[in-house]
Amino acid sequence: MKKNLIDIRRLTGKEFSWMFIFMLPALLFALFLVKVMIEHTPMDFSVAMPAMVVTGGLTFAGFIYTIRQSPKLRYLALGGLTLFVSLTSLGLYLYFTHLQTQLLTCQVCGYKSLSEAGDECPVCFIPLTATFQAENGYESQEDLIKAEQIMFFMPVGREEIDFYQPDPSPEGFAKDKDWKPVTTAAEILEIQQMLPDSLQ
Ligand SMILES: [Zn+2]
Repeated sequence: MKKNLIDIRRLTGKEFSWMFIFMLPALLFALFLVKVMIEHTPMDFSVAMPAMVVTGGLTFAGFIYTIRQSPKLRYLALGGLTLFVSLTSLGLYLYFTHLQTQLLTCQVCGYKSLSEAGDECPVCFIPLTATFQAENGYESQEDLIKAEQIMFFMPVGREEIDFYQPDPSPEGFAKDKDWKPVTTAAEILEIQQMLPDSLQ
């Protein structure tokens, strides 16, 4: 082991504090990623996890390599890492905010939730694909949209149907105000009446 490296199992109290200070930008970055994931859902764990691992690794390496060096070098490393994490956060935030405005509207539920046409919607879980249509026995895509829409908006019990609420969805997707349902509240309630009591 190089002499400027340290044994992590034998840290002094002061060194342990320094380790925490170095890990702080990575911890804040992880919190930030979770916040962005909730609000700007095109980002998921496949982006967030590697980003967290890289920042965690970098800040930890920064600590290991500078803890036995001059304080000046340590502050410089800490400053550099904080700047790097801040810029990465800003870049990711701008990128995913931009992506969110590019999302396509799901024809079934009306949320702006699709990165590409044919994706499985993260709100209603319906993919508008020929395969899904065939597998579920729909004659046309119009039939598919209407039937799935009726099921999606079918209320539990006697709640009133509002096609534009909640906005945003519990997952954080905005409703497309220009979207129009192909069914009506009256039609949904009529079908609900015909269901066995256990399903109403
Ligand atoms: Zn949908």
